[in-house]
Amino acid sequence: MKTQFGGMAGVVLLQILDEEVKILVRDSNHKNHSRCHYWVRMCGRMVVGKSAKHAGTFPLEVVLGSTVKVTGNPEQPSSERVQFPVAYGTPPKNDLNYQQISMEIEKILKRGKLLSRGLAIELLQRMMGGPSLLGSAAEDVADGKFLDALVVLMFGVEASRNQATLATSVFLLDLIRAGCTYGRNGTKRFTFANAFHSDYFWDDGLPTGGKYRGGWYGGKFPMAVHGTGQGNMGRRYEIVRNANPEDQEALHSLTQRHAVPQRELALLIHWLEASGAAPTEKSVRELIRLRLNQAFVDGVLPLALVGNPRPDTGVHPSLDAIVLADRVHVLYVPFVKAVHYHRSSECKTVPGKFRASPALLALEGKGIKFASEEHKAMLSCPLDEAKARHLNPCPWCCEPTRK
Ligand SMILES: [Zn+2]
Repeated sequence: MKTQFGGMAGVVLLQILDEEVKILVRDSNHKNHSRCHYWVRMCGRMVVGKSAKHAGTFPLEVVLGSTVKVTGNPEQPSSERVQFPVAYGTPPKNDLNYQQISMEIEKILKRGKLLSRGLAIELLQRMMGGPSLLGSAAEDVADGKFLDALVVLMFGVEASRNQATLATSVFLLDLIRAGCTYGRNGTKRFTFANAFHSDYFWDDGLPTGGKYRGGWYGGKFPMAVHGTGQGNMGRRYEIVRNANPEDQEALHSLTQRHAVPQRELALLIHWLEASGAAPTEKSVRELIRLRLNQAFVDGVLPLALVGNPRPDTGVHPSLDAIVLADRVHVLYVPFVKAVHYHRSSECKTVPGKFRASPALLALEGKGIKFASEEHKAMLSCPLDEAKARHLNPCPWCCEPTRK
């Protein structure tokens, strides 16, 4: 899969990213006790592994401006949870999901002490132990506690689940703090509004079993995904390591299943473009290495990114109306849980674009488990019929502002 970043293959970009993070973690000087280096030392250690080596580690306490507790049941892999200073639900729980985190961030931004760009700087500084933009007022202290927990989640727990997150967390915050724009007309801006949660839903090809509410699409932060299925992290690393053509095709086409590496790649490309990188392995490698060292070894905040991502990066659905026999036709996914009609078969909220391709469908048995009962192609129907089926316009490919 060639990307618009100078035609470099997506899998090659992810390989460089993985290698650079691996070098950072492998060469980590364990005597470096700076705050920024803490995340490198702890990479992989803030989750309950399958082996017994983590037994007894939990609960774990991380001391930033405040103390953040991470709990985990050593009997149960992936049970680790960050305890936020706020709670939601009945009974109240303070291991927040990404939608709840997004709602808390909105409250902080509404208070007006920090704008989106300042909040991105604040998170990076809290991660590195740098100066805070918040003061000592009670509300500032309360917000600071929440942000400490978010830092532990992003740079600690999620990076322990997927070490590339050490880098992608920095990329996301860099793009937000520079106020970078993206999208076809270069008018959309990186903010916290869709960093951890968005209004999009997958047109759900995965039986979510009520576990993932309504098939949430998630946010730009690669780990803020839902319904990606079992074993997707192991599979992500396998694809990047092996890099065979079938895997690359699957990476590109199985939208929901491979949401994590696809979002990692999107962030990396946007970040490289905004950094002014040349589309060569050397340039990509050097820039990633420099930024990782600034963030996790030296603990310095570099100047904001100089440019913006190219407006034409990524897949943009064609929004030309399909007119057949003088009637506007739309596309829909014949799943029971499908809620939208689409203008484009390339829509990113359609779980598997492979439905249109028998060749890709045939790959399903080869280690790619896509737990759907049926794989049906997208179907076309007149717009009024889609409405009669209670399907709504897809917010991603039917939104007028995206044209
Ligand atoms: Zn759509």
